[in-house]
Amino acid sequence: MSNLPYIVGNWKMNGSRAMLAEARAIDRAAARFPKVQVALAPPATLIIAMREAVQEIGVGGQDCHIEASGAFTGDVSAVMLRDAGADFTIVGHSERRALHGESDALVRAKAEAAQAAGLSVILCVGETEAQRDSGKAEDVVAGQLDGSLPRGDEVAAGLAVAYEPVWAIGTGRVPSVKDVRAMHKAIRTQLITIYGEAGSEVRILYGGSVNAKNAAKLLAIDEVGGALVGGASLVAEGFTAIIGAAGQSEEA
Ligand code: PEP
Repeated sequence: MSNLPYIVGNWKMNGSRAMLAEARAIDRAAARFPKVQVALAPPATLIIAMREAVQEIGVGGQDCHIEASGAFTGDVSAVMLRDAGADFTIVGHSERRALHGESDALVRAKAEAAQAAGLSVILCVGETEAQRDSGKAEDVVAGQLDGSLPRGDEVAAGLAVAYEPVWAIGTGRVPSVKDVRAMHKAIRTQLITIYGEAGSEVRILYGGSVNAKNAAKLLAIDEVGGALVGGASLVAEGFTAIIGAAGQSEEA
C-alpha cells in the first residue's frame, strides 16, 4: 500500500446529488496535492455518481455485508460496492458498532469479505470516554484489533486502521498529542505482531473532530498516517485545508 498521507472523508448519512459539487471541488483540490492520497466515502446512493464525477480521489463505502448477495433487506455487499466503482470500504465504525451492535468478529468478517471483493479496507477502532477515564483505552483498542483485523495472506497490503476515540467523534474534542502518539505506537506494535514486517506498512489514521485548525498538529504526530474526517469533509473548503495540511507535512 502507498505510504502517502491518506485523508478520507466519511459523509455518513449525509449527501444528495447536489453535493457532488463539493466532491468535484475536493477532487480538483486533491489534484494540487499529488503527495496526498484523498478519498471520500459517501452514502451508498452516491457511489456510482461520485465515481463518475471525480478523477483524482478514491471513492468508497461506509460499511458492507459479509455475503455477496441474498435476502438481506437494506444491506449492501462488498461485491456490490466494487461493482458500483468503490475502491475501498470503511468497516467497524463506532456508529456501526454502537448503533447496529456489530461485534469484533462481524467486523473481521466484513473486512475479509471486502478484501475478497477487491476493496481496500479502513478498519475503525476506538475507546469510549468511560474506558479512557478508567485507564483501559489501550487494552480496549488492542482487543478490538485482535478480534476484528482480517487474517490471511497479504491482507495487510490492502488495509488501513483508523483510531477514532468514540468521545472525540463529532464533539470538537481531541485527545492530547501524547495520547494519540501512545495509541498509534501501540497499534503499530500490534500490527507488526500480527502481520510481521507487513504490519509496518499499514497506515494508521487518526479520526475524531479533525478540522482545518487542528489537522497539521495531528498529522505531525509519529505514526499518524492520515485522517478519517466526518463533519469537516462535507464542505470542500474545510476538507481542502485538511488535505493541504497533509501536503505540507509531506514537504516538511
Ligand atoms: C467519524 O465519524 O469518522 C469522524 C471522525 O467524525 P468527525 O470528524 O465529525 O468527528
